[in-house]
Amino acid sequence: MHKYFKSDEFTCKCCGGGEVDPLLVSILDVVRARRGCALIITSGFRCNQHNIDVGGVTNSYHTNGQAADIVPSDGDIYSLAGELRSVAPANTCGVIIYSADGFVHFDIRSYEYSEIR
Ligand SMILES: [Zn+2]
Ligand SMILES: [Zn+2]
Repeated sequence: MHKYFKSDEFTCKCCGGGEVDPLLVSILDVVRARRGCALIITSGFRCNQHNIDVGGVTNSYHTNGQAADIVPSDGDIYSLAGELRSVAPANTCGVIIYSADGFVHFDIRSYEYSEIR
């Protein structure tokens, strides 16, 4: 059971299907507790059709339930990205800062990846 997030915050925005990896939610829970401000999940699990509809990359971590796009209510995407990296186990995360759109993509994977777009 996670403290700050409900599982339906992570289901597919088009069909309500799917679920995300509990590890992903556990990491977000720790980051949420540290920050003390709401984290809005704008995209979690995506079915294949929804991933196509939103222009997601093929084999997106979203389609495996291993990714979430997050808007921090305080707007500080850079500190959010840093905290996600520091809380995730070593070499297990992808962090992409979408600076123009004001959100952070976070995924759990088997190597470390980060980028600012
Ligand atoms: Zn869907
Ligand atoms: Zn994403």
